[in-house]
Amino acid sequence: MKTIGLLGGMSWESTEIYYKLINEETARVRGGLHSAPIAMFSVDFQAVEALQKIGDWDGAAAMLAGKAKQIESAGADLLLICTNTMHKVADEVSAAIDIPLLHIADATARAVLASGVETVGLLGTRFTMEQDFYVGRLKQHGLSVVVPPEPDREIVHRVIFEELCLGEIRDDSRAHYVRIVDDLASRGAEAVIEGCTEIGMLIKQQHTAVPLFDTTAIHAHAAVSEALADTWKAIP
Ligand code: GLU
Repeated sequence: MKTIGLLGGMSWESTEIYYKLINEETARVRGGLHSAPIAMFSVDFQAVEALQKIGDWDGAAAMLAGKAKQIESAGADLLLICTNTMHKVADEVSAAIDIPLLHIADATARAVLASGVETVGLLGTRFTMEQDFYVGRLKQHGLSVVVPPEPDREIVHRVIFEELCLGEIRDDSRAHYVRIVDDLASRGAEAVIEGCTEIGMLIKQQHTAVPLFDTTAIHAHAAVSEALADTWKAIP
């Protein structure tokens, strides 16, 4: 099995989930005591968020590219950036390394399309919901994308940074999210992408009849498939 590189800490609350899901899926597929070879760098999220806030995406790209190189040097065969938002600098990170980057929006779009959904709602940070690096990428796969109106985007964004990235799960915030998901469905979304790696901590499939696509789980499972492709049967 190939070694999975994780560029995490954005936030660590969701990186912990990646780590667990990747190991659980590896054990499920391979059985026994198998777990996943992982090389991880977990950044200080305060520093990343500060760069986001002032719009210093070049600075963020340089920081993450440097960490990606360290992960490659540690032996990773493929790389995951464990956040949707920071895929804004995915091209710069990818250019800094010689191993493949498994893009979260590509993995998600493939999962959505495989389920037969063509029009999808999107929840995430403002950057993810409002900018082309993410919405445009989904559209390149042939999906139509519906995002919440401005006041709801503000709620979704605020809950991510002020609650979920700090590990705080609140019933009133879940109620807002459920209402926003229902609203996306009433505006034509056949399903909703949880396009922030912490959203799955707040709203799960049991909370709504609208089908949900959790980017953390999709990305983690895609990494295991990729890491197991071709080679794992040959290696004891
Ligand atoms: N983890 C979040 C995401 O998937 C938000 C944190 C960040 O800004 O990176 O977008």
